[in-house]
Amino acid sequence: MSGMTNSVSLLPGGNATSSASASPEPLTLGVMGGGQLGRMFVHAAQTMGYFTAVLDPDAQSPAGRVSHRHIQTDYTDPIGLKELAACSAAITTEFENVPAPALRELAKLRSVSPGADAVAIAQDRAAEKAHFVKCGVPCAPYAVIESAAQLDTALSQNLLPGILKTARMGYDGKGQVRVKDAAALRAAWQDLKQVPCVLEKMLPLALECSVIVARGRDGQMVNFPVQRNLHREGILAVTEVYEGHLPAQLQEQAVAAARSIAEGVNYVGVLCVEFFVLQDGSMVVNEMAPRPHNSGHYTLDACDQSQFDLQVRTLAGLPLTQPRQHSAAIMLNLLGDRWFDANNTMRLPDWPAVLALPGTHLHLYGKTEARKARKMGHLNVTGVSVAEVRHVALQAAAILGIEAF
Ligand code: ATP
Ligand code: MG
Repeated sequence: MSGMTNSVSLLPGGNATSSASASPEPLTLGVMGGGQLGRMFVHAAQTMGYFTAVLDPDAQSPAGRVSHRHIQTDYTDPIGLKELAACSAAITTEFENVPAPALRELAKLRSVSPGADAVAIAQDRAAEKAHFVKCGVPCAPYAVIESAAQLDTALSQNLLPGILKTARMGYDGKGQVRVKDAAALRAAWQDLKQVPCVLEKMLPLALECSVIVARGRDGQMVNFPVQRNLHREGILAVTEVYEGHLPAQLQEQAVAAARSIAEGVNYVGVLCVEFFVLQDGSMVVNEMAPRPHNSGHYTLDACDQSQFDLQVRTLAGLPLTQPRQHSAAIMLNLLGDRWFDANNTMRLPDWPAVLALPGTHLHLYGKTEARKARKMGHLNVTGVSVAEVRHVALQAAAILGIEAF
């Protein structure tokens, strides 16, 4: 039999109390991390009548500013963690670098999903790739480099030209160096301070895509359609999801792979899996994110449930139904670069011009300072026809100074 926490749902509007006369108190859902993903989780949770608690050290954190409660401590602070556990009925995480030991501590007191074990795998590229292999999903040829001897061995494995990636703490292409030959590889590993890395073979990409699945405590799983993603300089720039954006067979393959990756860690929560499609048409997995993902932001406006709605449902142990996309969609990421003109002077993007276009939905994360390459928000474009959505998205991109796609 499963334990108490596995069988009890955390009902919207509060669990009924034993006394029939008292109205139930709203339950609080907690989140580790106060970035934009946490903010959109908070919005979804609040829409369903929950209170929210955010733990993030930053006083200005996007999620902390809109949450009922903001616990402003470090992620490993025992007092902060205790406070979060005390006020929350269940706790989730919004970025993968939340220290796994902190999640383990919280799990002693409260239901935490995804669990520390799944998050720990996603935090370490070497463990992550081993997990993919275990699940029978191919990834790029690679070698783990933790010592000079392993570096020498890697050189005999035909992995060059390749990309040297730090095993931990990388995001948006940070902690990655492209290397052509042995000398460059040695220099790159020096530059990365000889921390544990993986060397991946550089693959000839035709395109990139990702899938978001949500898995409940009972193992039930649903998924969003496969997203087609365009990265620029290591950062997601554009996501497109509509009829005909990807061959059906590739979509089926990606969904099946994402589902087996989630099953393989007994995952509970929202999981995004990123894939490369190679020029020969084959597909390999790139990495996974144990949380909602930038490539799933279109679900806020183009689907009957968003990835954040499903994060709330999985966390609260509520039923999951297969989400339905009702509109063709293109998402444009809004990086801080858009806040600077050609002379490098800061100014606001021309929102009225963008919002004058039909089917545009602006999402800004409430970040006080615009910096280049910083994710400030995103623009979803939705519509009935693909042609119309593409036309509007390209117009919006031109207004915003985003290169056409
Ligand atoms: P994020 O977590 O923000 O998605 P990241 O820093 O973890 O990014 P990766 O996903 O590993 O970085 O790589 C970023 C981008 O670099 C990929 O989306 C892809 O465009 C390119 N890239 C990474 N690995 C390879 C590879 N082996 N071959 C070809 N291109 C690659
Ligand atoms: Mg990535």
